[in-house]
Amino acid sequence: MTAYDDNNIFAKILRGEIPCVKVYEDDHTLAFMDVMPQAPGHLLVIPKTGSRNILDADPEVLAKTIPIVQKLAVAAKEAFDADGIYVAQFNEPAAGQTVFHLHFHIVPRKDGEPLKPHSGAVADVEMLKAHAEKIKQAL
Ligand code: AMP
Repeated sequence: MTAYDDNNIFAKILRGEIPCVKVYEDDHTLAFMDVMPQAPGHLLVIPKTGSRNILDADPEVLAKTIPIVQKLAVAAKEAFDADGIYVAQFNEPAAGQTVFHLHFHIVPRKDGEPLKPHSGAVADVEMLKAHAEKIKQAL
């Protein structure tokens, strides 16, 4: 398997080299809004420890990350009055992965509303900030 490369965009976000619209942070985990949301409230949860994806992740890192995925899924469901929550995680290009730092997508879903395409249009940053605030208030 290809080794983890810390030149990826999420490693740059973790180092503060590029901005993100932050939703949650603790010693082990960062959550921020996806810049190309597939639905309003689409966010990403990443461990601070680098791994390419779930295939090379340390199980102890996963054990710290999953409760945060759950916490944010519950908050996003409440914040967007969603009927359901889609949690997605892709491993390697064949599975749709485009950024090679482990991440979990959390996407609020409403009955009858289709998802926008993966890696589609870049959203307005002020809208992403407003959505992040709604999720933070539900935490
Ligand atoms: P994937 O690797 O296929 O699971 O998807 C990577 C996700 O990262 C996509 O949904 C992109 O919209 C999102 N993304 C790419 N660059 C950024 C960025 N700078 N900040 C936030 N999200 C991003």
